[in-house]
Amino acid sequence: MFHYENGLMLTRPRLAIDIPRRQPRAFVSHAHADHIARHELALCTPDTAALYRHRLGAGRRVIEMPYGRPVDYAGARLTALPAGHCLGSAMLLVEFEGRRLLYTGDFKLGESLTAERADPPRADMLVMETTFGHPSRRMPPRAEVIAELIGLVHRILADGKTPVVHAYQLGKSQEVTAILTSHGLPVLQHPSIYEVTRVYQRRGVELDNDDAGVGAYQGAPLAGHVVVTLPRSMKAYRLANLGAVESIALTGWAVDDGARFRLGVDHALPLSDHADFDELVELARIVQPERIATTHGPPGFDEHLRALGFDAQPLAPDAQRRLFE
Ligand SMILES: [Zn+2]
Repeated sequence: MFHYENGLMLTRPRLAIDIPRRQPRAFVSHAHADHIARHELALCTPDTAALYRHRLGAGRRVIEMPYGRPVDYAGARLTALPAGHCLGSAMLLVEFEGRRLLYTGDFKLGESLTAERADPPRADMLVMETTFGHPSRRMPPRAEVIAELIGLVHRILADGKTPVVHAYQLGKSQEVTAILTSHGLPVLQHPSIYEVTRVYQRRGVELDNDDAGVGAYQGAPLAGHVVVTLPRSMKAYRLANLGAVESIALTGWAVDDGARFRLGVDHALPLSDHADFDELVELARIVQPERIATTHGPPGFDEHLRALGFDAQPLAPDAQRRLFE
């Protein structure tokens, strides 16, 4: 049995998964704020452990689970597998009494420069996030979005202005930085973003190269540099002395009409670290589960899965469902 409390609680074997409230023992799929808490003991990948400790304190107790190496836990076998969402992000495969449950956490299929690519296994039961579980949430090909971003940045620089990219502190900021520097465009990051970038670099993720580096914004823009800062929804996004700018939000929500107005930016481009609608369906086809529970998404995605022949239900906050039977 399991139930949902903003994360997942397995009752057999007893294990909290991604519950953002202190637990005796919890699997942490990745280090985004809505998935972590000061647990007595956290199970997570080594990269997530580094980011988790960066965010919540160096003394946090962790059992590290490198990708693909099963850990015995209360009679179950637990295996962390790449989720493609941000550095260290993991799906969790639980094997218990001959049955396999796959919990996706936040995930993305396809390429990333800063996260290990997801390669989901087959399982009997699938619990999946469905953030973009509406047919309107289909992302254009990544290469097209990157080409548009690079062209836009060059045009803004040529106009004598500073391109300012708004992106989440952990994951998206590092991904866009790697994209920009790999195109020869040096980056200055909001200091709080740069702290996370230092963790990525210590974990061996290359975010710069000989042609274009990354550093912290030091109170003034530099010629030819792109500035990466926090989303405008976060008060701390402002940086002093930027002068003339054009702002670009990078988010999957940019596929929605009028996104740039709602986000308060000049441009919005749909680069996402979540699976889009088609990737969500693709995941179900790869995993081929007997049953699917959907979380973290709009109503109706489970209906879409049922129309495709899957036995799918939303995992409501108070839902209790038979799992290993
Ligand atoms: Zn996340």
